[in-house]
Amino acid sequence: MNFLTDITGSASFLFKSALRMLTGSDKSCPNCDSKKYRIVTKKYFIIHLYRCKRCKLMYRVPKQDPKENRKFYQNKYIEPLATELPNEEEIKELKRTKFRSSKKDFKKYIDVIKKRKKTGKLLDFGANWGNGVWQFRDAGYDAEGYEISKPRAKYGENNLDVKISTVIGSILNRKNHYDIIHTSHVLEHLTTINRYFRLFNQILKKGGLLFIYVPDCNGMENKKTAAKKKNYAFGKNHNFALDTQFLKKNLQETGFDVISAGKGTTNSELCVIAQKK
Ligand SMILES: [Zn+2]
Repeated sequence: MNFLTDITGSASFLFKSALRMLTGSDKSCPNCDSKKYRIVTKKYFIIHLYRCKRCKLMYRVPKQDPKENRKFYQNKYIEPLATELPNEEEIKELKRTKFRSSKKDFKKYIDVIKKRKKTGKLLDFGANWGNGVWQFRDAGYDAEGYEISKPRAKYGENNLDVKISTVIGSILNRKNHYDIIHTSHVLEHLTTINRYFRLFNQILKKGGLLFIYVPDCNGMENKKTAAKKKNYAFGKNHNFALDTQFLKKNLQETGFDVISAGKGTTNSELCVIAQKK
C-alpha cells in the first residue's frame, strides 16, 4: 500500500468528518430513518458510533453520503487486499494453484457452503475482481458476481473469464433465481442495509441460503470490547458495525429464518447464515 496516500486519505476523511459534525450533519438512522439513537462509543474525538433504537443498527456518524460512497469505490478505495490487482504472472500462478494458501483463498468459505448445499446457482455479492467467483465455479457452483467497482469487475471478466455484473438493476430482474448468495466483507461498506436484504430475498429461490461474513462487532457497548474492536469496527471504510442482534432482527423482518450465527473463518469475523422463508 502507498503509505502516504493512506495517511493523506485519512486526514482528509477526518477533516471532512469534523466539518460535518460542526455543521450539524444529519444523524438519523441510514437504515430506517429513525431519529431515536444513542451514542455507543467514539474515536479520534469526532468519529462516533451510534445505535438506532428502532432497527438496532450501529452506524458511523458523520454518515457517508451514498453518492460519495459510489464514487469512492470506483477509484479511491485503497484497502490493499481488496484493490491490488495481480499482474499477469501472479494471476497465472493463482489459477495454477487454484488460489490455495493465497490471501484470496476461499476454501474456508466454500467448505461452509458445501456442508449445506453441494451445487446450485450462486451469487457472490461484492465480488471484487472475481477471485471468489472463480473459486466457487471451480468448486462446482454455477457462480457469478455483482461488484460496484467497474475496473475491478472488468479485471475479473478479462483475466478470470467470470461473469460480474456492475448494474444492480440487472440483478433485480432475476427473481427466485439463486440457490445461494455469498457476501463477504461487503455489508459494512454499504450506506443502507435492509434494502439489500429485501433484494437478496427477492432473487433467492424459496429455501435459498444467504451466507453473510462481516467484521465481528458484537459487544461494542462493553468498554473493554469496544477498545479492542474500535480500530476495525467503524471508520473511513466501515459505515456500519454489524452484530448478531441487528442481523438476526433485520433478516427475520425481511423474509429470512436465521439458521446459524457465530464465529466466521477468523476470530474477528462474524458469520450469519439465513434461509429464505
Ligand atoms: Zn434504524
